[in-house]
Amino acid sequence: MSNTGNLESTCIFCKIINGESPSRIVYRDDLVTAFHDIHPVAPLHILIIPNKHFHSLNLANIEDEPLLGHLLTVAHQIAIRVGVEQSGYRLILNTGPDAGQAVFHLHFHLIGGRRMRFPMG
Ligand code: AMP
Ligand code: ZN
Repeated sequence: MSNTGNLESTCIFCKIINGESPSRIVYRDDLVTAFHDIHPVAPLHILIIPNKHFHSLNLANIEDEPLLGHLLTVAHQIAIRVGVEQSGYRLILNTGPDAGQAVFHLHFHLIGGRRMRFPMG
């Protein structure tokens, strides 16, 4: 299965990418966009998304590996930029119903600024 490679008119994150929906963008390049979550669960809560529509990680293919890797290196760069690289941060990628995925455009949550609970789940 492949992703659409396009923006989806009904997807809230695609609307953020094309500027139709407001957001507090913290980083943007040709491949990814990062912006503050509207309902933060930690002092720092940023979403990092690909600039093309993926329903979920389940739609990613081998040719998407460079893009998926880029999402991670951008997460690190943002962690440096917002000052949590040393204090620590957590990346979360919810996929499907049991994980509680609510927005079906692949996204990493980058959360930090407080001590995280562990074990997770
Ligand atoms: P998930 O449960 O992993 O699908 O998380 C979706 C996240 O998107 C939640 O943390 C929401 O608060 C966040 N969210 C939904 N709509 C927006 C929006 N318009 N701008 C910023 N964050 C949003
Ligand atoms: Zn989308």
